[in-house]
Amino acid sequence: MEIIDSHTHWGPSVSMGTGVTTQEILKQAEQSGVSGIVVFPFPSTALADEEINERLLDEAKKIKKFIPYYYIPETMKPIPKEEGFCGGKWHWMRGIQDSSSNYEALKDPRLEQFIEASEKIDLPIVFEEEFPFTEAFVNKTKTLKVIIPHLGMLGGNPIDFLSAFKERENVYFDTALASPDTVMRFIEKIGHERILFGSDIPFGTMKWELEKVLSLPIGDDKKESILSKNLERLIGSNQIV
Ligand SMILES: [Zn+2]
Repeated sequence: MEIIDSHTHWGPSVSMGTGVTTQEILKQAEQSGVSGIVVFPFPSTALADEEINERLLDEAKKIKKFIPYYYIPETMKPIPKEEGFCGGKWHWMRGIQDSSSNYEALKDPRLEQFIEASEKIDLPIVFEEEFPFTEAFVNKTKTLKVIIPHLGMLGGNPIDFLSAFKERENVYFDTALASPDTVMRFIEKIGHERILFGSDIPFGTMKWELEKVLSLPIGDDKKESILSKNLERLIGSNQIV
């Protein structure tokens, strides 16, 4: 069964004073039998210097397993797909990470252009904000593929995210750091096709997060969707080969 990790952080972290090396990610991938790894820069590093996006892309060109995502800057520049990015990371735009969204960002005239351009680019965006912010954003688009990390855990109550987005075919969720019970609740409500396996290295480990998905009481075909097929469908042919 092919396994792709849809959520890891790569490179230096300015706020943590440390970071995650390519070797560390590859070591975990080796131990867990993971063959593809989505990587994005740490927020603090990307905010200090957008150049990290290019460094991450260069690394992904060398490391075949890496699937690079673009950190969307505060200027709301859409993903430069032609450069080889396979997705994007939207992270508490001008707000306080893991704590409070900045609702002024929703009034920025560039937001409409960003959404319109992103719909055309048609790559997934890992999107993390408070629940009301996320809901306002999702209401602006029917086609942009939005991946909510941790089943929404850091932006509020996962059950609120589930209720609001259960009918939204363009909204996906990743399993990183979520409890198996909550993952099952999501699968029962929306099926397995909008759920993605993610580890959130360095905040989680691939081994632990993978074992969590493998031990869910569902069939292997559903596990395979969550572990790789769903993400492959999302990133399509843009994946670097
Ligand atoms: Zn993360």
